[in-house]
Amino acid sequence: MRKTIVAGNWKMNGTSKSIKTLLESLTAGVPAVDGLVTLVCPPAVYLAQVKQQLGDAPIALGAQNVSSQPMGAYTGECSLAMLQDLGCEYVILGHSERRSLFAESNSDVAEKVAATLAAGLIPILCVGETLEQRDAGETLTLVAAQIDAVLQRVGVKDFASVVIAYEPVWAIGTGLTATPEQAQEVHAAIRAQLAERDADIADQLSILYGGSMNAGNAAELLAQQDIDGGLIGGASLKADEFLTICAAA
Ligand code: PGA
Repeated sequence: MRKTIVAGNWKMNGTSKSIKTLLESLTAGVPAVDGLVTLVCPPAVYLAQVKQQLGDAPIALGAQNVSSQPMGAYTGECSLAMLQDLGCEYVILGHSERRSLFAESNSDVAEKVAATLAAGLIPILCVGETLEQRDAGETLTLVAAQIDAVLQRVGVKDFASVVIAYEPVWAIGTGLTATPEQAQEVHAAIRAQLAERDADIADQLSILYGGSMNAGNAAELLAQQDIDGGLIGGASLKADEFLTICAAA
């Protein structure tokens, strides 16, 4: 059975006070449904606060990035052991903002995925094309190459513990959402790419859509056959929007 996953990527937003208020609403309203995983990914400095406030609520904790190095002289970085220590189960990796603003390459992302799997956490591997790449007809080859870099590094069997998020760069934070058909096309291609190597793993893989998903458009996106949840940015900072998306899932 494929899991449905709704993940909130809070990015670099919030204060201890605003996060407390947001979590009060989320913990009170999130549905506890079999087969649905809800998680929030706060900024690293708030992970401990969030974990404590979550208590027994059916909301998991994720980080937005991690170092592939185990420890040592890496100023400003967080290790997987630290994330584990704080109760994180998921790590977003290869988000387009990390790729474009912090120059993370496909091979950097592959190293992080490998380290995350080795530590027993679940990577949420983000892939997606820019508008120029879409207009040039390069979407499917570009996304396939992003996934292939990780496949080459860890092998298909490890994708049993990977979540993929398809996030067209042009839809992130822009209010422009991929149509359900555009998203479904890429999700189906991703699943087919994995199925060439292992049909069972491809079938079980949760592939999330991200890019201006909100309370208004979530239901029709999530109704697509190969869309197994969402990675939500802006709308995850508003409790009512996020809970509406969870209910749609
Ligand atoms: P958005 O961000 O929902 O604000 O477009 C999604 C993401 O970047 O994960």
